[in-house]
Amino acid sequence: MLLQLSTQRPQARDLSYLLHKHPDRVQSVEIPSGRAHIFYPQADDQVCTVCLALDINPVRLARDNRQNAADFALGDYVNDRPYVASSYLSVALAKAFSTAMNGTCQSKPELVGVEMPFQVRIAVLPAPKGGEPLIRSLFEPLGYTVQLTRHTLDSEFPEWGDSRYYTLALTGEQTLQTLLSHLYVLIPVLDSRKHYWVSEAEVEKLLEKGKDWLENHPENAQITRRYLKGLHRLTRRALDRLQAVEDVPKPEEVGEEAPNTEATEHKVRLHDQRLLLAREELKAAGAESVLDLGCGEGRLLKLLMNEKQFTRILGMDVSYRSLEIAKGRLHYDTLPPKQKDRLTLMQGALTYRAHRLEGYDAAAIVEVIEHLELDRLESFEWVVFGHARPRTVVLTTPNREYNQIFETMDPATFRHTDHRFEWTRKEFADWVTLVGETHGYEAVIKPVGEVVENVGAPSQMAVFTLKKDESAE
Ligand code: SAH
Repeated sequence: MLLQLSTQRPQARDLSYLLHKHPDRVQSVEIPSGRAHIFYPQADDQVCTVCLALDINPVRLARDNRQNAADFALGDYVNDRPYVASSYLSVALAKAFSTAMNGTCQSKPELVGVEMPFQVRIAVLPAPKGGEPLIRSLFEPLGYTVQLTRHTLDSEFPEWGDSRYYTLALTGEQTLQTLLSHLYVLIPVLDSRKHYWVSEAEVEKLLEKGKDWLENHPENAQITRRYLKGLHRLTRRALDRLQAVEDVPKPEEVGEEAPNTEATEHKVRLHDQRLLLAREELKAAGAESVLDLGCGEGRLLKLLMNEKQFTRILGMDVSYRSLEIAKGRLHYDTLPPKQKDRLTLMQGALTYRAHRLEGYDAAAIVEVIEHLELDRLESFEWVVFGHARPRTVVLTTPNREYNQIFETMDPATFRHTDHRFEWTRKEFADWVTLVGETHGYEAVIKPVGEVVENVGAPSQMAVFTLKKDESAE
């Protein structure tokens, strides 16, 4: 993946001072799963061009993501990530040009505020749904002339038609800092497959990088939503802050770190999103003792153990092997006694009543029910909602409607061979209502993952709360 940034003006070579990168040297920085190389094909008094070449290692890409199960088996290996402008490009920009992004230039500070004529070329830009009009609607309001060249799927077979990849050329006059902030925000906006660790930190980054332009951008809602991967709560919060822009804290107030986003650029696969959301819900419910039912290999348990709020945690699964893996992940055998006391692991089936599950504040049941036979579901409901009866139950299951988005998936199958059913949003909502009515819980349903129009999100979550009059009994 190649980004070229060029300016044509007297003393064009000054650009290298602003970029804080020597024009006669090739330099490299580490980025997640690879390296970015910075070099100047031309740097003289008329023209200065700097290139940022991303060298993403596909093997590292797959290996770095191994712990986060892919949504389809070969997804880690067969993808366009090494070749296209993606969220990795933003990391590379922030790392390679951090001084310029911060608006500092020690040797020639007077250059920082100078608007220069720039040409930017991004070799391969994937267009999400919305395509060319979407790309234009992001850059044109910022004063760029946009030139897009769409690539065919395969030049040997023109009859196959166009691909979703473009070469983007931007021309405009900006300060370097502003230009970099545009690219930093808008490239991940176009990267619908990015897997950020999307947290509060991203809201701060978006508002900070967009502080001079996002508020007045006609597409600011769309930019915010896409930048934050469609997470409603964060998007709402960011938009509220944008609208009340005088409340946006200055970078120094939010303790803005050097713009090295590496730490927050962990890939968050759908499953991690689910687990993090589940943990947030348990925390927000004020639970201190929690059950993780169908805890599998202990990923959620690990997240729960990291939170002091949870003083008593029980993980249960029917699979002995999974529990053994969970033990390894949690370093169970070598945990200090105080930590070990917080955690219980037990083998058991969710379709049989167990007294040990009673007396907990909350339960998480993440991607488990679809593994149960439909005719055992009622027993499960009694075990959890009838007998264990925690105040809060956080439960997730796939949204079958979303399967059509997985292009390689046969619509007649389920996402995993062990799934006994997968529900549409309506089927899930009906079940949630029925369980609530039968056992005295009220429930809220939330999407997990990016919401696609008419299809919904890849996964769905219900947060059940025991009704007040029921818990008083
Ligand atoms: N909650 C975990 C694991 C999900 S996979 C996570 O999100 O990472 C589903 C898990 O449910 C598997 O570990 C499987 O062993 C477990 N499971 C399936 N049927 C079960 C049952 N009847 N009782 C308890 N666990 C069950």
